[in-house]
Amino acid sequence: MKMLLLSFLLCGTVCMAQHNLATDYFSNPLDINLILSGNFGELRSNHFHSGLDIKTNQREGLPVYASADGYVSRINVGTFGYGKALYILHPNGYTTVYAHLQKYAGKIQDYVKENQYKRESYEIELFPSADLLPVKKGDLIAYSGNTGGSGGPHLHFEIRDNAQRPMNPMLFGINIHDTRVPIVKGVFAYPIGDDAQVNHSQEMTKLRLIQQKDGNYKTEDLTAFGKIGFGIATYDFLDGASNKNGIYSVETTLNNTEKFEVRFDKFSFDETRYLNRYTDYAYSQTNRSDIQKLFRESNNPLSIITKEDDNGYVYIADSLDYSYQIVVKDFMGNTRSVIIPIKGQKSEDFVPRTVTPTEDFIYADHATSLSKGKFSVYIPANSLYDNVYLNIKAEGDTLKLHEDVIPLHRNISITADISNYSEEDRKKLFLGRLNYRRKPYYTATEKQGDKLVAKTRTFGDYAIVADYTPPEIKPLNFSEGKWISNQSELRIRITDDLSGISSYRATINGKFILMEYEYKKNLLTYDFSDAVSDDTENNFKLIVIDNVGNSATFEAKFFRKNT
Ligand SMILES: [Zn+2]
Repeated sequence: MKMLLLSFLLCGTVCMAQHNLATDYFSNPLDINLILSGNFGELRSNHFHSGLDIKTNQREGLPVYASADGYVSRINVGTFGYGKALYILHPNGYTTVYAHLQKYAGKIQDYVKENQYKRESYEIELFPSADLLPVKKGDLIAYSGNTGGSGGPHLHFEIRDNAQRPMNPMLFGINIHDTRVPIVKGVFAYPIGDDAQVNHSQEMTKLRLIQQKDGNYKTEDLTAFGKIGFGIATYDFLDGASNKNGIYSVETTLNNTEKFEVRFDKFSFDETRYLNRYTDYAYSQTNRSDIQKLFRESNNPLSIITKEDDNGYVYIADSLDYSYQIVVKDFMGNTRSVIIPIKGQKSEDFVPRTVTPTEDFIYADHATSLSKGKFSVYIPANSLYDNVYLNIKAEGDTLKLHEDVIPLHRNISITADISNYSEEDRKKLFLGRLNYRRKPYYTATEKQGDKLVAKTRTFGDYAIVADYTPPEIKPLNFSEGKWISNQSELRIRITDDLSGISSYRATINGKFILMEYEYKKNLLTYDFSDAVSDDTENNFKLIVIDNVGNSATFEAKFFRKNT
């Protein structure tokens, strides 16, 4: 009985049983200790992180094992995103995902290569049937890497439910050492109602935190009136790593009555972009720190909000006192709390909300077309979360399309009239988004007669840019006429200055060779073990095309001993 009670207590607030999930079904996909550079639900750019980023000791090539029995149901090789990814469907209906791989292992690798050669493409997506690549728990399936949009060697690991919703892998007993209490960086109050005030102001206000002896916080007394909401900037550190991770849950109460809870158990990919609604986007863009808003605004369908009373808002009456509390937890139950004493007070003397009107007031639920100089902008309904004033101006070939402080949920389109350019020049034009140094970044641009049409989900400055320069091709480990019998691969650097690389194709003696593209290193690699040619004399040819169609061709003859 005593034992039972003890295990019940240990189970604590993150009791696995409450989710009815087996905690021994999935195992660690690596045979090293789990140290994370990213956890489930943490806030990323435009999305919540959908899995665990497991550190691989700054190295690539660590063996990756099937986390449970099942079969390889999907393989995706992409230059960006997940890079080389593998999906295993398990008999319980769940799927595990392994991403940013260096390469696949054994029969899986053979299967991928075979199909890449068949389709003559590095990028490929495959859905093998159930009997083709079965795996047992612990089978070697791949090697860890750094492919796709990965900022350093690691394994991205996901567990998805039978509706392809990513779930928190820690719910399955994949536990990470974490003895550190979440960090509270800031607490913020938002006056919401038209007559709402916080500390005699209608603007969002940062509260001063006073740490107590036990490590928890109290804020200085807040005077407030009307409908208000709170926000928190918080993150967590796990043991053994210095990077910031996400917290597991935030709960709020007003006078000990539950107001709101957000909890990172699972979400769906359809909703992940609503992160930009949930966090304070303008604040993130200007302060490089994320505030999670502890209330549900309109156009926020997020399922991570697991409890709410009045959408998490509080209503403060004049002359009454309240106590609002925020409790932040990590998955292991380490807890940090903040108490906010509120004094209801309606002040006659307050700082009003600042609104900067422009000629373009946009209703979020209407589609809007605007015309500025040689540009027109189409904003579909529900691209914006709120009705807003946008600041849009055309200056010659540049369109100032507000600033990147308002989130866009859907693509809007920008159309530029290029009829004043010659027929020849028009072919070389694209729409680029200008960064803070005024350097243009290619935005997927379509040509429609004498118009350029680009789609984007980011406000900012856009310009009509001409790219007349073809890509550059530079062989790194061979040159014309060389013997390279000892090389195991061909390595070539490809770069493009403005519009960027769109496609490439390489052959040896006229036969397609698979060159893997690592965009972060501007590197193309061919592995001689693919054995496309067993000739001694080899004529290599590579064509690289940029996003406006400028093309470069490189040819060289090299020799290899026939083995
Ligand atoms: Zn990841």
